[in-house]
Amino acid sequence: MTETPIRTRFAPSPTGMFHVGGARSALFNWALARQRPDGRFVLRVEDTDAARNKPEWTEGIISALAWLGIHEEDPHFEGPYFQSAYADKHREAAEALFKEGRAYYCDCTREQVQERRGNPHLGYDGFCRDRGLEAGPGRALRFRVPDGGPTVVDDRIRGRVEFEHASIEDFVIARADGSPLFVLANVVDDVEMEITHVVRGEEHLSNTPKQQLLWQALGRTPPVWAHLPVIVNEKRQKLSKRRDKVALESYQEEGYLPEAMVNYLMLLGWSPGGDREIMPWSEMEPLFAVSDVNSSSAFFDEQKLRAFNGEYIRALNADEFVERCRPWLAPERVPWPEENFDEDVFAAIAPLAQSRVAVLSEIVPNVDFLFLDEPVEDEKSWSKAMKPGAGREMLAAALERFADPALPWEAGTLKGALEEIGASLGLKLGKAQAPVRVAVTGRTVGLPLFESLELLGRERVRERLRAALAKLERDASASA
Ligand code: GLU
Repeated sequence: MTETPIRTRFAPSPTGMFHVGGARSALFNWALARQRPDGRFVLRVEDTDAARNKPEWTEGIISALAWLGIHEEDPHFEGPYFQSAYADKHREAAEALFKEGRAYYCDCTREQVQERRGNPHLGYDGFCRDRGLEAGPGRALRFRVPDGGPTVVDDRIRGRVEFEHASIEDFVIARADGSPLFVLANVVDDVEMEITHVVRGEEHLSNTPKQQLLWQALGRTPPVWAHLPVIVNEKRQKLSKRRDKVALESYQEEGYLPEAMVNYLMLLGWSPGGDREIMPWSEMEPLFAVSDVNSSSAFFDEQKLRAFNGEYIRALNADEFVERCRPWLAPERVPWPEENFDEDVFAAIAPLAQSRVAVLSEIVPNVDFLFLDEPVEDEKSWSKAMKPGAGREMLAAALERFADPALPWEAGTLKGALEEIGASLGLKLGKAQAPVRVAVTGRTVGLPLFESLELLGRERVRERLRAALAKLERDASASA
């Protein structure tokens, strides 16, 4: 038996940042195309809305897809095609539909239709159906929805969805200036590109009966339809670019790993089965089936995505982790002077950070104390840890103890030393180390303290303890 070839497509309109929902659609289509040796994923940029398109959005889409692993060089990738290049095909199709009587010209204004129907919510009344108008100024082309019906959309995810023809108006397919509407251009391109599977967001389900009628009127068998569930936030509201963080680029910028992002996006409405959720693309790709996608809305849980990312980060080997951090350590992105950065010191601290960061951008506040001339000033941390009495005494005692050259400058002994000083002041280790941590790193939370002290070195640690003591004196005299 020969299998019909699979040709999926992703057809974004370049009118804004690349949305995580678009990324999910693209990945599902990519998986379907790659499951067959001759499967194709067609990228078609629907750029006909000249007023809202910008070339940078198109570039953003292409680079975001590449970041997700959907590469132009892959043999399954076809395109990008640009819808604007197919204007002639759209016109030809419109003309053919008119010639065959499947479409007619109409010069009714919106006001006239409303006046006749007496209700602004009712659609077009078919007034021009049999007037035999030719093309001309002010005349739009409407599709003649067949009497009778319904149109049944057999959706792989939602099942059979029936649309009564009585509730589908004779819809416009080309404006008076001849330009096609979305419903037509989208179908003509899908027909021309021999698309077999249309897998897209649920917001297009209402266009589908019209598009299916157009496929049939153009003499073609409609594709397999699959409408993906909406993605919602924690309040069960549909993700919106005004309210929610939806741009893939912002996740990229924050330091999400593409493999974690891909893994998480694939689970928005689909599951590989069993209770395994962390699964690399290479294993998910062959398992994906559009008929297994759930029709109920999918919750975009940023906390869960963060947890996934943390897992993927921890699974990197040490060198890979250092490599992945590099973009976040670029001079224009860090608060320290470029010349202070030391590769070896970073490589030494990196394993400690690797187990603690959830996104790569968090690397910077974790290691900045090593490369800044002075630690950051974090007022909250300072007032929490630097209690005048015990805090001051801890710092003074540590400063003195650390001066002793007989004390090996090594994490284990430094810990012992602070423990002893703390005990002599009646403080447990946690309380005892807090002022030292703030003096040296600027913050109450951070990487393991004793390894941090070791890496920073005796001189710089003592210098920071001295500076913190001086600041405590200044604060005390200012409030006296
Ligand atoms: N350009 C349409 C959109 O971005 C695509 C619709 C489709 O996938 O058919 O919403």
